[in-house]
Amino acid sequence: MKSYKLWINGEWASSTGRKKVTVFDPATGAPIAQTVDANREDVNRAVSAAKEAFYDGRWSRLTPAARALALWKLSDLLEKRMEKFARAESENTGKPYGFVSLGADLPFCVDNLRFFSAAARDTHGYSSGEYAAGFTSIYRREPVGVVGQIAPWNYPLMMAIWKIGPALAAGCTTVLKPAPTTPITTLMLAELCAEAGIPPGVVNVVTGGNETGQAVVEHPDVRMVSLTGSTGTGKKIMKTAADTLKRVHLELGGKAPFIVFEDVDVDALAGSATIGSTFNTGQDCTAATRVYVEKSRYNQALEAIVESMRGVKIGRQFDDGAQMGPLISATQRERVQGFVERAKAAGAKVITGGGVPKGYDDGYFFEPTVIVDADQKAEIIQSEVFGPVLTISTFKGEDEAVALGNDVLYGLAASVWTRDIGRAMRVARDLEFGTVWINDHIPLASETPHGGFKQSGFGKDLSAEAVSDYKITKHVMVKNG
Ligand code: NAD
Repeated sequence: MKSYKLWINGEWASSTGRKKVTVFDPATGAPIAQTVDANREDVNRAVSAAKEAFYDGRWSRLTPAARALALWKLSDLLEKRMEKFARAESENTGKPYGFVSLGADLPFCVDNLRFFSAAARDTHGYSSGEYAAGFTSIYRREPVGVVGQIAPWNYPLMMAIWKIGPALAAGCTTVLKPAPTTPITTLMLAELCAEAGIPPGVVNVVTGGNETGQAVVEHPDVRMVSLTGSTGTGKKIMKTAADTLKRVHLELGGKAPFIVFEDVDVDALAGSATIGSTFNTGQDCTAATRVYVEKSRYNQALEAIVESMRGVKIGRQFDDGAQMGPLISATQRERVQGFVERAKAAGAKVITGGGVPKGYDDGYFFEPTVIVDADQKAEIIQSEVFGPVLTISTFKGEDEAVALGNDVLYGLAASVWTRDIGRAMRVARDLEFGTVWINDHIPLASETPHGGFKQSGFGKDLSAEAVSDYKITKHVMVKNG
């Protein structure tokens, strides 16, 4: 079993403590690695390294061109090692190697880095000039400083890149904490940063659980905290960050509606509902979770979606044709099962799935699941399940569709299915979500801002806006008379 250290100041570093976190293969439940459960002293060392690297200017005062070049080199190295990273990601998360890790996650990670490389050189948006008589005003967009970045387990490498990409493009230095279940590719990425010529201390990785994260958030030298995680964790972090008045950037949970009007071909969209709800085993903050179908098409849509969900090929990482792997942990599987059981107890019906697939008792697998007859106020409609579970309900008319879609605490992503362009525009306007897709669900590009409304958080990942989130404006006023 491989044992990993921390990554501090450009090298592997031992912990001052002895606590370890064991990492498991979710497809078998077997232990695969040991990592450090970093303590406060370890976090202090990582923050000191990031602070020194920030204030001596080895990264923050490089030209944007030099930072862009290093990020581009990193993307090239990752592209060359794509198979190695995809394999490691699949082993640690259970993701199907071909369909998810190598087929989707890794190419997108490389593209994300290339985008942030280019975005490092973007200078748009602020103009200097003479606004008070006798003075010239200069706007400086400066990096925020040392940032603390905390990631979840659903797309470990991609989330690490969505954190370090914009932070580094802006000129910040970082202390990054991956999720305790999925630290391996983040540690590999840190080592790759050194190979790409990113100076020591610019990227530091501390592994561990919530207490390690808490120590990062509390540290007075950390100027901003960026979390991708659950809404509950976001609230805790925001409270903790208030003590040192840190800037917070929160990418939290979601409960995406998938709203189908009667003018569309419902058979054709069943595949999108399936991919939208089962890709990455539904462990996706933008996953399609609540399908609402206009009454006249309900039966037809239900039949098509159920048939499509039954066709999803469950498998272990390297099984031929596997489309959907296990959930991340035993705890997560219990959680998902708990949601399904409570939904049934509250009067909803499970039409397909609802438990562990046959032949997959080892590991943390769960069937693609369709639930109907759930009340809008029921937990299964209101709460994020983070598993391959879909509810199907009906609505009558545009106003009710919007009202039902918005009737949750979350506001991350939504989709609307209609051929009526006017209606698509009105509904997209009225849905309170950070992303609204028309006639699709789930695609993203590195240029497109990704982030939530309401209790899905604030701040953006991806896009030029993400880089801007890691900058602070300074006004320099020069007497010119
Ligand atoms: P989580 O909130 O349990 O943990 C996320 C990270 O926060 C982990 O690294 C964890 O150790 C750390 N953490 C937990 N408590 C902390 C504390 N008090 N102080 C500091 N750090 C703390 O989330 P998870 O279960 O790992 O991931 C799933 C969640 O992430 C889902 O809710 C999902 O919707 C969300 N997510 C959101 C997005 C987005 O872009 N909005 C993307 C992916 C995942």
